[in-house]
Amino acid sequence: MTRAASVSSDLARTPEATRADAPPASRPRTAPLRLTVLGATGSIGTSTLDLCGRHPDRFEVVALTAQCNAKRLAELAITHRARLAVIGDPAHYAELQELLAGTGIRAAAGEDAVVEAALEPADCVMAAIVGAAGLKPTFAAARQGCRVALANKECLVSAGDIFLGEIKTWGAELLPVDSEHSAAFQAIGRTSAQSIEKIILTASGGPFRTFDKSRLARVTPEEALQHPNWSMGSKVTIDSATLMNKGLELIEAFHLFPVGAHQLDAVIHPQSIVHCLVMLEDGSVMAQMSHPDMRTPIALALSWPERIATPVPKLDLVALKSLTFEAPDRDRFPALGVAIDALNRGGAAPAVLNAANEIAVKAFLDKKIGFLEIALTVAACLEKAEARGLLRDLATLDDVLAVDREARAMAQNVLPG
Ligand code: NAD
Ligand code: MG
Repeated sequence: MTRAASVSSDLARTPEATRADAPPASRPRTAPLRLTVLGATGSIGTSTLDLCGRHPDRFEVVALTAQCNAKRLAELAITHRARLAVIGDPAHYAELQELLAGTGIRAAAGEDAVVEAALEPADCVMAAIVGAAGLKPTFAAARQGCRVALANKECLVSAGDIFLGEIKTWGAELLPVDSEHSAAFQAIGRTSAQSIEKIILTASGGPFRTFDKSRLARVTPEEALQHPNWSMGSKVTIDSATLMNKGLELIEAFHLFPVGAHQLDAVIHPQSIVHCLVMLEDGSVMAQMSHPDMRTPIALALSWPERIATPVPKLDLVALKSLTFEAPDRDRFPALGVAIDALNRGGAAPAVLNAANEIAVKAFLDKKIGFLEIALTVAACLEKAEARGLLRDLATLDDVLAVDREARAMAQNVLPG
């Protein structure tokens, strides 16, 4: 995989570039942060708005978007006094308009309107749409040169170099929201790239960590949606159960931090207390710990370089007793290896991986394929894409979206049954 060294080293300097004596925002610190939330009704979106509600003086909500749930979107828009509410699916526009009538909140609908919401002047856009559907709106947020709090990992997985290029071109600022990457960002601090030997992302191991293959073959979507530690949207919960999530996160980390693919690793840590470990040349290992609640990394992405209070319980180290770590089992959880292969192949491979995985996860949730067939489908799709010469380097967002479409069609054909 290619990566523009200048871009990655710029990002590696982000902690220093945003330190307290050099605030990135042009607005004075005392003014509320004008915040847009893309994917406001989701797990990350509602956690973000929960924090806004707890710090009403610090945040001013500009725009909120959602795909289908007009009722929840309208409630959130009214509660947080948003100026604009956008529903992605136009079929729910009339309902949204009715719910917002007389409130003074503008309503809009459709894919283009979601992109326009990302372009409404704001100091920070929380990019929390799930899947490749988040690419266009998140790219739009980068174009307005504000802070992009990035939960949508697909932007970096499918379009890493291109997205980072946009962030740089438009003078935007990228803050990771994914807990492991937020942890790495904090653990790296001002450490220079040469001193970093390894970045190790932790994974809970999901609900099936101890299952053998025959039991894995029979697990249901209902069982897979019961994550032991984290409360998340359904797509990322299934990805956590297959370990594809960790694979996607290794690709995300590759783009965010100044290390090669061989310096990235994943370890199973069932307690989900340590989120990432950064090994340094002097023998130090820097780690970040917190209760598994996304409001901690979200708060950091919104308030950096300051900190704000959250309701997340403080760690009781004595009660925790022990923190354990084990190697991931790539035989029982092959999705991790499939994702690492895609990272090493580079070019369009991660975009194909992501698209095929989205199709396979949906097929599993719809009970059309079994749990073990998710990784098999994605691997078969990558092989097919390679044979068809589809894994070329990508230069623009349109290239990424074209590959994404092609890979989805291919995955539909590859699906067993
Ligand atoms: P979710 O499914 O709970 O919410 C997704 C949001 O996106 C909803 O508001 C939904 O209306 C909107 N959306 C869905 N499809 C859309 C479309 N086609 N167009 C526009 N909007 C659409 O998802 P989530 O768990 O909040 O995850 C959001 C992103 O954050 C994902 O990329 C995920 O990988 C990442 N992430 C989530 C967590 C977590 O704890 N939930 C942790 C780390 C990273
Ligand atoms: Mg994560």
